[in-house]
Amino acid sequence: MVQRFQQYIDGAFDDAREHFDSVDPSTGEVWASMPAANPDDVDRAVNAAHRALNDPAWANQTASARGKLLYRLADLVAQHAPRLAELETRDTGKIIRETTSQIGYVAEYYRYYAGVADKIQGAWLPVDKPDMEVTLRREPVGVVAGMVPWNSQLFLSAVKVGPALAAGCTIVLKASEDGPAPLLEFARLVHEAGFPKGVVNIVTGFGNDCGRTLTSHPLVSRIAFTGGPETARHVVRNSAANLAAMSLELGGKSPVLVFDDADLESASNAVIAGIFAATGQSCVAGSRLVVQRGIHDALIARLVAKARAIRVGNPQDMATEMGPLATRRQLEHIQQVLQASVEAGGRIVTGGTQPEGVGNGNYFLPTIVDCAHPQVPSVMEELFGPVLSVVTFDTEADAIALANDTRYGLASGVFTRDLTRAHRLTRALRAGIVWVNTYRAVSPIVPFGGYGLSGLGREGGLEAVLDYTRTKSVWIRTSDEPIADPFVMR
Ligand code: NAD
Repeated sequence: MVQRFQQYIDGAFDDAREHFDSVDPSTGEVWASMPAANPDDVDRAVNAAHRALNDPAWANQTASARGKLLYRLADLVAQHAPRLAELETRDTGKIIRETTSQIGYVAEYYRYYAGVADKIQGAWLPVDKPDMEVTLRREPVGVVAGMVPWNSQLFLSAVKVGPALAAGCTIVLKASEDGPAPLLEFARLVHEAGFPKGVVNIVTGFGNDCGRTLTSHPLVSRIAFTGGPETARHVVRNSAANLAAMSLELGGKSPVLVFDDADLESASNAVIAGIFAATGQSCVAGSRLVVQRGIHDALIARLVAKARAIRVGNPQDMATEMGPLATRRQLEHIQQVLQASVEAGGRIVTGGTQPEGVGNGNYFLPTIVDCAHPQVPSVMEELFGPVLSVVTFDTEADAIALANDTRYGLASGVFTRDLTRAHRLTRALRAGIVWVNTYRAVSPIVPFGGYGLSGLGREGGLEAVLDYTRTKSVWIRTSDEPIADPFVMR
């Protein structure tokens, strides 16, 4: 039975005029029919969000009341986490173990933003004029266009919906055309939580019409985009039409540096989780291992043993440790880059193929490529799959140079027991996140974002909420003296 999903615009669910098929990545079979929003639907959604922004039903809610609605939404996400996790697993192939724990944590993100809502404060300014009171009001920035890629859509939308609503904005969220089921289901929770109509609108559709209409819409004041750098360039061009403020969370080619004094067992577990969790389809995937020569062979031996022990299989099975890639396109891209990497001097030490007997599923084995030099394509390019590329260094300076030899700069990891070296590296690494003797830890309280091609702005943490506000400077003259005629000389 093919399940049918609906879009959510202006507080109502409807069937779009057109639909597209969603494929279960573990079988290659169509399992759901998704609404394909057209430019008219997007326009309707943005107009609804714009009306809601100024409607007393939302505009006159106190910040605490907005917080209470967000708490209710958080509770609903927690309560419905098993269903949301099942849908995400079905639609993207991300294993049920990961979707279950990640969606449980998504509820914590909403709780964080719920708590922040009535802590967003303006200011009183000690202005240099004795008869003036100047205050700074913080107002919602306006209608937000939220865009997410196919991986972790609930998680990546929480860091947009949460701060936007806490600040009093309204939002049109575009789910990715790949794997939109969990976000379309989330719309039902938004509805149940009781947000006034038009405050949150959720559509899905293709980038070229739906995404373009949304990001260039004249009523949009703020774009919150997560996706690849190429698409981000389109979004930036689209925004020339509305000059919307923007945050861009893009890809990465994050290095994990392992020094010869590191605890090898800990480091190898973190490296394995850093690259093979979510089948490598994670923006912070630690896809480049930068290893000191003296421990190269010992570390690779451990990693190969651990990679071969990973249980690859049906993502719905709680025992599975790595599922399929989300799309066929993704699988084929990885195969092509690996081929080019071998030709350029990469040596596949484990994996490199699909496992046997997987039918039309997009499965690919955990793969490690030992690279003779950093120009091997798998070292340079974000693959967004289960491929770890290894480069070797001799000195700390070499390690830093190799780690920073990328146009990306999202995350990085350092494994060493030398405290002073760890401190030096936290300064030297050019990335928005440095994890020392750990990898892949995230929290709603901590800013997240990158350097260079990895993006613009930060999500998470208090400052990110302020990015959904704008200030208004209010000047009040406190003197009862009449204002002197400016054209009379005195
Ligand atoms: P993508 O860039 O192809 O798509 C992202 C979104 O943009 C989708 O909703 C898509 O429909 C839309 N889009 C496509 N073309 C558009 C256009 N011309 N105008 C407006 N919108 C358009 O990304 P993807 O392939 O789905 O996801 C993978 C990428 O996302 C990777 O590069 C990955 O690293 C990145 N990512 C980043 C983070 C982060 O937080 N930094 C998190 C997850 C994924």
